[in-house]
Amino acid sequence: MSIEVILLALSPIFLGFVSYEFIKYRKFYDIKDSLTNTALALLHQGSDAIALILLMPFFYWLHQFAVFEISLSVSTVFIAFLLQDFLYYWFHKASHHIHWLWAAHVVHHSSTKMNFSTAFRQSLMYPLAGMWVFWLPMIVIGFDPNTVFTVVALNLAFQFFVHTQIVDKLGWFEKVFNTPSHHRVHHSINKAYLDKNFAGVLIIWDKLFGSYVEEDTEKNGPCRYGIIGQIESHNPFFISFHQWIHLFKMTCHAKGVMAKARVVFSYPTSSVDKNKPKKASITTVTVNDA
Ligand SMILES: [Zn+2]
Ligand SMILES: [Zn+2]
Repeated sequence: MSIEVILLALSPIFLGFVSYEFIKYRKFYDIKDSLTNTALALLHQGSDAIALILLMPFFYWLHQFAVFEISLSVSTVFIAFLLQDFLYYWFHKASHHIHWLWAAHVVHHSSTKMNFSTAFRQSLMYPLAGMWVFWLPMIVIGFDPNTVFTVVALNLAFQFFVHTQIVDKLGWFEKVFNTPSHHRVHHSINKAYLDKNFAGVLIIWDKLFGSYVEEDTEKNGPCRYGIIGQIESHNPFFISFHQWIHLFKMTCHAKGVMAKARVVFSYPTSSVDKNKPKKASITTVTVNDA
C-alpha cells in the first residue's frame, strides 16, 4: 500500500501546484481536461491499490528466492533508487514501442494540454498490462518489496513536477535530471521529439541509450502535445479502453498465432484511423501527420 499512502500524503502539495498554475497560467488549462485527468487519477489509484493487495503475497513469495539479503541503509536505498529509475526508463521506452504496453500508456499522452494536472492522467490498466513485472528484478536481487514500491512511488511523485510549461530550462540540473523541458519534449508530437526522453528522475539513461533530445523551439517549433491520431473525448472510460479495443480488434483480424503475437508486441498503431500509423517510426512521420 506504500504507493497509495505516499501519493495520498503528497496530494495537498500536488493540488497546491495545480491551483497556483491554474490561477496564474489559465491559458494552459481546460477545466474539462483537468477534471478528466483527476477522474483518471482516482481510477488509476483504485486499480493500483487492488493490484498491490493481490500481488504482495506473490512478491514476498518471490523474495524468499532473492540472490542477496539487502538491509536498509543510505547506500542500499540509493542503489534501489538508481536501479528502479533505470528499470523505469526501460518500462517507459517499452511502453512507447510495444502495442500491449502502449494500450495502457497512451492514456497519459492523450491530452493536448500540458500542465501539472497532466501528471494525474494515468491508466487504470497498468496492473493488467504488467507494469509491476519491470520491478521484479529488484525483488529477485534482494530488495524488500515494500522498499521497491516505496521507491516506485517516490519516482512517480518526482515526475509530477516535470509536467508544466511554466518552468524554463534549469541550468546544470538539465544535464543530470529529468526536467519540465525534457518532459515537454517527451509529450510532444513534433517530428524531432517523437519517442524521446523516457526518463523518470535521471535524464542520463536517455543520453546513454540514444533517446535524448533537447527542447529547441527555434529549430523544432513550439511543442505540440497529444498523440498522432488524436482522440477527442473527456470520457475517462473511453480514454482508458479505446486503445485496448483497437488492439483487440487488430489481434482478432490477424491470421495465425504468430501474426497475432506480432500485433500485440510490435509498434503501436492509432485507434482513430487504422489506415494511418499513429506513432510510426520518427523517420516516416511527417509534421503534417500530427
Ligand atoms: Zn510516455
Ligand atoms: Zn508525462
